[in-house]
Amino acid sequence: MDRGESLVFDRAVEYYDRTRSLSSASMDKLVPLIRRDVGDGPCLEIGVGTGRIALPLQAGGTAMVGLDLSQPMMRRLVHNAGGRLPFPLVAADASSLPFADDSFAAALAVHVLHLIPEWRRALEELVRVVRPAGALVIDIGRETKGPFRDLLAQFAAAANIPETHRGINDAGELDAALAELGAELTQTHVIEEMRSASYDKTIEALKAGTYSITWAADEAARHRAAAHTRRWAEARFGPLDRRYDYRLEIALRTYRLQGF
Ligand code: SAM
Repeated sequence: MDRGESLVFDRAVEYYDRTRSLSSASMDKLVPLIRRDVGDGPCLEIGVGTGRIALPLQAGGTAMVGLDLSQPMMRRLVHNAGGRLPFPLVAADASSLPFADDSFAAALAVHVLHLIPEWRRALEELVRVVRPAGALVIDIGRETKGPFRDLLAQFAAAANIPETHRGINDAGELDAALAELGAELTQTHVIEEMRSASYDKTIEALKAGTYSITWAADEAARHRAAAHTRRWAEARFGPLDRRYDYRLEIALRTYRLQGF
């Protein structure tokens, strides 16, 4: 296992839930949609994090198993579950799963494959541990557009870091890789919420290293890049306390594995 390669979220644990939570209205739509595909389980979630999706799924009746490289994130999951282990949690790498073939009825991977350079290997592993005719529900995260993208592009160029993720960046590649593994795309669903943020706050978040894409830059580089991005944004957008709208979304793709 090459732990250094995937992006582990230990450092995000203090703010992950605050910055990534969906409204209860969105969760009320999302959980039944996923449950329709994964059923009562057992369902493995790789990159389970703080349980944003797995905890409500388990509460809805799906028997979950969570796996993550980050023990702090899973400790937060247990805290979020009221301090008790809600379902089995395993500290391991998604590209080398410690489970026998055909152990699960379904698997879930939400906002994790973009963090794993060996994402193809992780897909092979999911196909191996899920039974024939089982479901894989995957969200690789969508390409963001609009002011956030523009700010990130400026920031990344100034910090000399890639603007793309180290794992998968494109849903078309995911479809092709899974088709090769004999899994067919059967459903897509998008749950979205409109949010707003000020230019100021976004640049502060880039500077603070809130988004995993900025972790390739050290603190000094992030500070320099933030100063550049502020100057650029003032010229481009005007006063930085103004707000812009953006979409927070979960874009699910469900694949069905070949039966016998
Ligand atoms: N799926 C959760 C959600 O939607 O809220 C958490 C997503 S969080 C952005 C990504 C999680 O994947 C982090 O907890 C990180 O530690 C974990 N992760 C990254 N690379 C991994 C790997 N190779 N194997 C297992 N977990 C990994």
